[in-house]
Amino acid sequence: MGKNIKHFVRDSWLTASYYTGLSHLYQALAGRKRGIISYHNVLPVSALPAFDTYNVDVTAAIFDKQLHFLKKHFLVQPIQELENPNAKGIFITFDDGMRNNSEVLAPILAKHDISALFAICPAMIDRDLPYIWRDHLFVLLHQAISQDVWLPLNDYQTPFLVPETPAGINALTRQLKQHVYQHQLADIYGLVREICQKNGWAYEVPSPDGLRYDFMTWPQIRALVAKGHRVASHTQTHRVLRFLGQEEKKMELEVSKQRLETELKQEVSLFVYPYGSRAEIDQATVQAVQEAGYRMALMNVQQPSLSPVMLSQPRFAFPPMADSAHLHAIVSGYKFLFR
Ligand SMILES: [Zn+2]
Repeated sequence: MGKNIKHFVRDSWLTASYYTGLSHLYQALAGRKRGIISYHNVLPVSALPAFDTYNVDVTAAIFDKQLHFLKKHFLVQPIQELENPNAKGIFITFDDGMRNNSEVLAPILAKHDISALFAICPAMIDRDLPYIWRDHLFVLLHQAISQDVWLPLNDYQTPFLVPETPAGINALTRQLKQHVYQHQLADIYGLVREICQKNGWAYEVPSPDGLRYDFMTWPQIRALVAKGHRVASHTQTHRVLRFLGQEEKKMELEVSKQRLETELKQEVSLFVYPYGSRAEIDQATVQAVQEAGYRMALMNVQQPSLSPVMLSQPRFAFPPMADSAHLHAIVSGYKFLFR
């Protein structure tokens, strides 16, 4: 097993869904079941950037090979069949709606004649917020390399030196994420503003990579729909639903649905939970998704553990790895890999 994969398995936010995904894929292979794959960013680079803090990126070349692999060994279903319980095989989904979705990965999907689901946060497309909060924190720290910065980790008591190394910046970004989860922060974007204010930084900072950090436009999203892809709500602002009160949950779910329906001129009945694990989703969240009128909702878990099952559908993620021999080794021998 390569060092990169070990690193991925150890450090990923998606570790759980990775383990899960492999066992799911194995079952799918053995029993011709359904499997929903979760992707985020597909980047036109030969190697992943050093700052893939959340392990949500894959290179275009590797993505292309993964699609080859999936098509060879599974039935990759058209996304229109997602709600059909009799449609066995693989469905493909992309979260967050970054520009690479339209400009890099959609042409690769077209080449393979695959349709997919895109999970979109309308507030990002409307440019109400410049970045998803975790990317925003990364971009801010990235611009402050080797500087002392004031952070909420110790209540702004003493400054932190932003490390020069990618690993160091990643570690600091992860500590901030832990802070958000420990304090169950509803107002994550308020925290980003507070950090900017304490350090005298501008809130809006240029993105180090537009394909990776910036969002698609409405015309780009409409073009995806015109090509047969589908769109799900991914909330308005990508906050942690579990940390929000009832009214805010309702806003995230209902306003995003209405906004998408207005822009796309069609009903949006699919929802993708941000983050997608039980740490971010409780039964009250699923209830709110139901009340907002969604008919199917996707998590990043192995088995539905909330009800109704249609609103807690499992998904898994692939590691950013390449050749089919490797993927075969994972699928057929995944237990071996994790000793
Ligand atoms: Zn997301």
